[in-house]
Amino acid sequence: MHRRLLLAAPLALPFLARRAAAQGAPMPVVASFSILADMVRQVGGERVAVRVLAGPDADAHAFQPRPADAAAVRDARLVVANGLGFEPWLDRLLRSAGQRGTVAVASAGIRPRAMAEEGHGHSHGQDPHAWQDLNHGRAYVRTIAAALAAADPAGAEDYRSRATAYDARLAALDGWVRAQIASVPEARRKVVTSHDAFGYFAAAYGVQFLAPQGVSTESEPSAAQVGRLVRLLKQQGITALFLENMANPATLKRLAAEAGVTVSGQLYADALSGPGGPAPDYEAMFRHNVGLLVPAMRG
Ligand code: ZN
Repeated sequence: MHRRLLLAAPLALPFLARRAAAQGAPMPVVASFSILADMVRQVGGERVAVRVLAGPDADAHAFQPRPADAAAVRDARLVVANGLGFEPWLDRLLRSAGQRGTVAVASAGIRPRAMAEEGHGHSHGQDPHAWQDLNHGRAYVRTIAAALAAADPAGAEDYRSRATAYDARLAALDGWVRAQIASVPEARRKVVTSHDAFGYFAAAYGVQFLAPQGVSTESEPSAAQVGRLVRLLKQQGITALFLENMANPATLKRLAAEAGVTVSGQLYADALSGPGGPAPDYEAMFRHNVGLLVPAMRG
């Protein structure tokens, strides 16, 4: 107890000085969607004022910017985007807003996964949902920390230390996810979700995901695709069937009814929940999703 107090004392002064410097004017940062906004807040702390474009429970694939979004983008010192084709509306918004700050692409440091052939609409593109692998999330955090430090050099040390602490939490969470998935017999690690947002999760953690909607939420699945999934569900005895917070539930509910399976709950894929919901930040999203997936896969 005493030892902890003694250690804290010499740290307090520089911390207060940094906070005073930041209090003058937090740096305006725009994040394209809610998961990136959380990462920027985790790394930026009080030095940044984050505005999110596609907010909690919003579908970033189909986001439609409003005039207030253009104004926020114009005033931002830094815009953080996912890249990999996740925000097809962003280039136009940046141009029309006359954005002059930096644009950081959070996925820049990762090796993208090709989209599955079944992902209709964009079958030759790259899968944008890289944050569903926590190790990619850690790479996002490194990219964001470097971008914040470049835009606000006075805060570089602060960003670095916050990013280091955050990275340690994400690394521990990755270990927890692996241990949870390992508790499910391999043959039962199969899940059906609304759209194909979990390809990176599947590759990282050894779970097979099947989706009627493909990788983008913009196109509806054909009757033949739904029929094929119903047969798969029955043949393989899949019991884990999930809705997603930002996708249209109609197709998946029809699929569940035809296959005689109960929907197991709602996963958070491309957007966080609001502050009072079960997935208000990136870490909570993984705990929520894995906490639902594991018992549902066991059946
Ligand atoms: Zn998506």
